[in-house]
Amino acid sequence: MPTSAISSWRDRERIQMPVYTDPTALRAVEARLRQLPPLVFADEARRLRTELAAVSRGEAFLLQGGDCAESFDQFGADQVRDFFKVMLQMAMVLTYGAKVPVVKVGRIAGQFAKPRSAPTEKVGEVELPSYRGDIINGFDFTEAARVPDPERMLQAYTQSAATLNMLRGMAKGGFADVNKVHQWTLDFTAEDKAEAYRDIANALQDTLDFIRAAGLSPRKAEELATVDFYSSHEALLLEYEEGLTRTDPMTGELVAGSGHLIWIGDRTRQPDGAHVDFCRQVINPIGLKCGPTTSSEDLKVLIDTLMNGKLDDAGRLMLITRFGADKVEEHLPRLIDTVEEMGAKVVWTCDPMHGNTIKSATGYKTRPFENVLGEVQEFFRVHGEKGTTPGGVHFEMTGQDVTECTGGLRALTDEDLSDRYHTACDPRLNASQALELAFLVNQLMRA
Ligand code: PEP
Ligand code: MN
Repeated sequence: MPTSAISSWRDRERIQMPVYTDPTALRAVEARLRQLPPLVFADEARRLRTELAAVSRGEAFLLQGGDCAESFDQFGADQVRDFFKVMLQMAMVLTYGAKVPVVKVGRIAGQFAKPRSAPTEKVGEVELPSYRGDIINGFDFTEAARVPDPERMLQAYTQSAATLNMLRGMAKGGFADVNKVHQWTLDFTAEDKAEAYRDIANALQDTLDFIRAAGLSPRKAEELATVDFYSSHEALLLEYEEGLTRTDPMTGELVAGSGHLIWIGDRTRQPDGAHVDFCRQVINPIGLKCGPTTSSEDLKVLIDTLMNGKLDDAGRLMLITRFGADKVEEHLPRLIDTVEEMGAKVVWTCDPMHGNTIKSATGYKTRPFENVLGEVQEFFRVHGEKGTTPGGVHFEMTGQDVTECTGGLRALTDEDLSDRYHTACDPRLNASQALELAFLVNQLMRA
């Protein structure tokens, strides 16, 4: 029996979550999580909701991005800094195109648990349980590593706290100064291959020179040196999510303390499922992945449930569409019609990653840059035709120079993938591909 409303997901089917073999160890970890400070606070979640409400009206644009799966081994200050740097550059380029503020949300500081298409993986004759993200089990292909270990939740919490601490420091401490961010972008466009984007960078330079010449009050200058940055992840491992849920003492409302925004994945969005039941109860903004198998009937129920019947509550619900570049035309119009018929105020955002994963000739899971761009183009085209708002983009990306997605300025080929293929899960855009995409989305918005 659930002990409180937030435990009611425990009565639902347990989809994509591990079965822990040691219930005593699990209970000890859950008790510890309940004692630890939450990573984010109610007012921050509310502020993000206000900003997302502006996104739903086209008065702001959303940039959400980060790793497919954060990793314990690959964690360090350099990784966090390089990721933050490229996000800021992208946000600056997008602001220039959108002519509205860009709301910046990382897939970070909690993006550890992964849904898998198969419960086991086979290498040669050996079959083992699938890797489900560092918060659940280990990546190594050994029997011992693949056993789900609840202690991993505490390590994920600690890493998330350290990550957020660094992000908060960089967002407010001068690292995010608009002039500095622009200088990095100039360095990028100075490269021969990025020539196509030099005009935009130069135009940005003129704008900044003008602002400086016109004179800024010290308070305004300070505003240009800081940004707001939010965390997000898929709320998949519900023991972890429940353990970090807190009641806001001011209002009595429940807040997921694990991240500012949480989303429901494409495999766990059953309208009567555990994940929907958990997410409907917390006040954080909620994302919902919508794919080719999202029926209009299910979407109606999901919107009503997740918005708790308040369909004009803009900023509460974000629909993250991920169909595949060649399937947008088949699915997005029907889902837009459903939402419009209901009169629901949602944020529409485009995840051009998860519908465009293919196996390369060399055996690696990859995503061709042109298909990623293609899905974003289709997303803008369909919203343009429907008169609805293309609110944002959602990328799997890293600040590191990895070789996981093909194409882009440096024209990465199938053969290049083996050079620096470091992802623990899905292939990510590298820093150069991510920034290039921002330039291309900027052009789309200005077209
Ligand atoms: C993801 O965002 O990493 C993911 C698994 O996406 P989806 O649920 O859309 O497949
Ligand atoms: Mn992924």
